Amino acid sequence: IAGSTDRRDTTICALSSGQGKCGVAVVRVSGSRSLEALKRMTSISRLEPRRAFLRKIRDPESGEIIDNGLCLWFPGPHSFTGEDSVEFHVHGGLAILTRLMQALSKLQVQPALPGEFTRRAFYNNKLDLTEVEGLADLIDAETECQRKQALLQANGILRKLYDSWRKVLSESVASVEAYIDFGEEDNIESDVIQNVHHALKQLMRDMEEHLADGRRGEILRSGIRTAIVGEPNVGKSSLLNCLVQRNAAIVTPIAGTTRDVIELTANISGYPVLIADTAGITENTGDIVEAEGVRRAKNHAQNADFVIVVMDALKFASSDLSYEDYLGGYFTSLGIQELLAKIGKERFVVIANKKDLLKEDEERRLAGAEVVLISCRTEDGFQNLLQSLTDHFSNICGNPSAESPTISQARHRSHLTQCLRHLQSYFELCANEQHDVAIAAEEIHKAMRELGRITGHVSTNEILDIIFKNFCIGK
Ligand code: GDP
Ligand code: ZN
Repeated sequence: IAGSTDRRDTTICALSSGQGKCGVAVVRVSGSRSLEALKRMTSISRLEPRRAFLRKIRDPESGEIIDNGLCLWFPGPHSFTGEDSVEFHVHGGLAILTRLMQALSKLQVQPALPGEFTRRAFYNNKLDLTEVEGLADLIDAETECQRKQALLQANGILRKLYDSWRKVLSESVASVEAYIDFGEEDNIESDVIQNVHHALKQLMRDMEEHLADGRRGEILRSGIRTAIVGEPNVGKSSLLNCLVQRNAAIVTPIAGTTRDVIELTANISGYPVLIADTAGITENTGDIVEAEGVRRAKNHAQNADFVIVVMDALKFASSDLSYEDYLGGYFTSLGIQELLAKIGKERFVVIANKKDLLKEDEERRLAGAEVVLISCRTEDGFQNLLQSLTDHFSNICGNPSAESPTISQARHRSHLTQCLRHLQSYFELCANEQHDVAIAAEEIHKAMRELGRITGHVSTNEILDIIFKNFCIGK
């Protein structure tokens, strides 16, 4: 991506639809030579913006027909990139696409770099960085809830919020600076400064509320990391298989972690759930001493967003203990008693497996207990389990809505935290009777800069490269 700023005068092109043979492929062109390229490759005389024209598309030198396809013209600034742009919708065959790209290169149109279209949209103020990130997330979204959250962000929900906050800060700075210039002599301090303080205090409350979201947007974006813990042989692996088989999972080996650890993605009612299959490893290594098994289960649970505790229903049914006592002892033996108390009821569920082995009176012992009774063998109780998981996940991630925009990236959180810190320093400085107003006001400037880093009002190449590196060619 290095050097992409110097490329802004070049006209670029790329296949924007997926790779490989397909019915229709879309080739995008953006830059000042777009329209000329379109004219030289088709015989369009009267063009209308944003209208599809069916035309023979030709090689500009030989005049040979490459394919028949739809052509669209998006004059800047009313285009995705903000520049003059053109789209060719052709048949998605390899030879067609190769010839089309060759034809474009004869007209000095160059292949685009990854994310270059979106980068141009950012430079031309069509998108801010949160919208760019939203767009990337939208393309990556694998579940319904991820799609909703990403779409809200791509459509500017965070941009609007952070821009409105930046406006409060810039107005506050303006007022304070006016006061520095004129106010001090006229003794108008009380009104101006008090209004500023009032606005900033409100802003800080809004930010704190926005930050205290339990990381729901970030968890939804990256997937709910879920640990399945329990004694050997209670059915952890069986449960994992059932969940994964029923919920269209993608299996992705995680590079760089313990050998053989695979992470499974399950889509449960639109929530993306990441389940690391470490459970199996712990048990299959027969020589691991019990303490080591417990330590691993605990570690695993500690790093999770959600914990599924599995117990053997029959084992409980044949004990004399009350459910509460049994469960307490079970948690303790797994070493997760304190952890569960800390994360709270919303973040874990207890499952009693092997329902099929219970007699009726034994099953009654579990009635009324806060436990989901299932059988991985017969899949009895799975509807209840999915409902229970869905309730928990919607508690953890919420339902993305326009009313409550959520932070979707750790990057946002860290800039917001910094921003808040500067505002706190501002008030700390002001609390000193002898304070220098100009020095205090510098903190408001710094706070504003932090917000600007989220949206891209203040940006560095490092920030941009990190954000755009995840984009593919053609986006
Ligand atoms: P893990 O050690 O906790 O991962 O347990 P597994 O999933 O490997 O299961 C241990 C044993 O219990 C296996 O023989 C399974 O076939 C059996 N099992 C698992 N779920 C059920 C169930 O719902 N009912 C019965 N009867 N057996 C089960
Ligand atoms: Zn297992």
